[in-house]
Amino acid sequence: MTVTAYTGRFAPSPTGPLHMGSLVAAMASYLDARAHHGHWLVRIEDLDFDRNVAGADHAILQTLQRCGMHWDGDVVWQSQRQPLYEAALQQLGTLVYPCGCSRREIADSRLRLGDSASLVYPGTCRNGLATGRSPRAWRLRVPDGEAAIRHFTDRLLGPLQQDLSAEVGDFVLKRADGFWAYQLAVVVDDGAQNITHIVRGADLTDSTARQLYLQECLALPTPQYLHVPVVNNPGGEKLSKQTGAIAFDRGDNDLLPEALMPAAGFLGLSLPSGILTTEQFWQAATAAWAAQYLGKL
Ligand SMILES: [Zn+2]
Repeated sequence: MTVTAYTGRFAPSPTGPLHMGSLVAAMASYLDARAHHGHWLVRIEDLDFDRNVAGADHAILQTLQRCGMHWDGDVVWQSQRQPLYEAALQQLGTLVYPCGCSRREIADSRLRLGDSASLVYPGTCRNGLATGRSPRAWRLRVPDGEAAIRHFTDRLLGPLQQDLSAEVGDFVLKRADGFWAYQLAVVVDDGAQNITHIVRGADLTDSTARQLYLQECLALPTPQYLHVPVVNNPGGEKLSKQTGAIAFDRGDNDLLPEALMPAAGFLGLSLPSGILTTEQFWQAATAAWAAQYLGKL
């Protein structure tokens, strides 16, 4: 078996069609894989059954193809991989415990502690559920003190760190209604798919320390990370379906001027003039990405 030194991925949630924000993330991961002569996988992260939109997965895949972005291997759907997440939960053993707290109770306990800045889980159920309580979620125990600090170096943002105990607390891996948490599924899949390089939007930077800790707990290797800036709407919010992002693919429009060139511009890639085809675009954009980002490896 040939071992490829680089495997990257694009992992969209099927909550609507591809929009400029998700195209920028897709383009960045695709260019990084091409620049490394590596593999690029596509994984549909459809575990939030309340937010999935029927048909959005296939619409996203079609738009990627129209953009000239070709993935390696088969596309996988997280909804079909739940036995893997269950096995990981079992593997974590006593690091996982049931929690009976509601969101409201967690928020209230923070107020009593005089810290309303963020929703850090205060560890209420760490030593067992109170009498009469039933589990609402399963949480992963994070270390205490110095051992809770995770350091990593982002290829673009440089050295970063997070104190899992003070800034996050024991975090949810599975809800009692059966929903798997993003953090567990993404770590299990990145491990199972041998992902070596993760390139994604900076809105996920904050999840990285939790994922590093889960990789340790599951004895999985740690990939390299690069977080690219997220596209904001004029109000400064991240673009998403909820904040009014518009799908750019009408099925008949020319995606080179309407999608690819603007996305490359957002990533700060300097491209030569006179690009007329998507093939020319990807060739020039890969060279520009290599010049701009691979020096930071
Ligand atoms: Zn609890």
